[in-house]
Amino acid sequence: MCGSRNEVFAVKIIDILNRKNMSLSFEVFPPKREDGFDSVKQATEEIAAARPAFMSVTYGAGGGTSRFTMEIAQNIEQKYHVPTLAHLTCVSSSREMVRARIGEMKRMGIENVMALRGDLTPELEKSDPAGWDYRYAVQLVEELRESGGFCIGAACYPEVHPDSVNQKEDLQHIKEKVDAGAEFLTTQMVFDNNLFFNFLYKLREIGVTVPVLPGIMPITNANQVKRAIKLSGSFMPQRFKSIVDYFGNDPEAMKQAGIAYATDQIIDLYANGITNVHVYSMNKPDVAKAILDNLSQILGKDFAR
Ligand code: FAD
Repeated sequence: MCGSRNEVFAVKIIDILNRKNMSLSFEVFPPKREDGFDSVKQATEEIAAARPAFMSVTYGAGGGTSRFTMEIAQNIEQKYHVPTLAHLTCVSSSREMVRARIGEMKRMGIENVMALRGDLTPELEKSDPAGWDYRYAVQLVEELRESGGFCIGAACYPEVHPDSVNQKEDLQHIKEKVDAGAEFLTTQMVFDNNLFFNFLYKLREIGVTVPVLPGIMPITNANQVKRAIKLSGSFMPQRFKSIVDYFGNDPEAMKQAGIAYATDQIIDLYANGITNVHVYSMNKPDVAKAILDNLSQILGKDFAR
């Protein structure tokens, strides 16, 4: 740990992941507009005050909210000393813009970066990739590694990225990111742990040995289900669908059931040797705190002895 630049207490995420203790981290997202900044800042501070292992801050599609990503990440580290991971995307940016962002991150003392491609916009899909400065996340991983000093994470997809030809190729492209310098991977949301375990097995088979954090999304209202499926394409087990069918019309009951389902998934992951789990908090401090409370006798302990 160090408190040097801009009083940011930078801890490398990989050092947290390499500990044997059970850990839980949360993802938050920045506001889309300036007038949403204060409420998002408040929510992220409340989550940070509950002391997760680290927090990741997403990067708005196309980079429109990049300043907020870095400000929220820096604020959490400075005020709560909770390590943060700032996301960065590249596909809709010029090289010059990405280099400027990397420079800003360095100046702000941000040392952990999630290197992402970003989704293709309709305009990009119509244009010739030969003209793009970045086509795949691996190029951003390389750039961050060359720039030096960053702990780099990358994304992966237990149910295969939708742009992939097949899983075999997708796995190879994940391996390329690791070979280029990604020190850990975080998955797209999974609602069925067996999909994660099968995927992890396949990664290990091809020689990917870095920590892989399963991404868990607590679904706390019925409308979120449709959005989550649309965004992620993730498989919803029947056990989960029944919960939504039965409790979906009662917001408080649905929230309780969604938190319980996510907690159950996390406990199953821990009990099968996965020590680090990442939760998509959706900026909801009450949900984040409830999950942390449910795991209070598990977190921070090493059960592998
Ligand atoms: P890549 O690793 O580049 O992969 C994209 C596709 O290209 C895959 O199908 C892959 O198999 C294929 N591919 C890779 N290399 C090659 C190659 N050499 N030849 C052919 N095919 C190749 N989006 C945001 O906008 N902001 C965020 O903050 C954000 N955070 C995320 C966090 C996590 C944990 C996850 C899982 C996703 C996140 N996303 C975010 C979404 C992400 O940007 C999209 O899913 C995007 O479409 C792919 O990003 P990637 O980094 O996985 O891309």
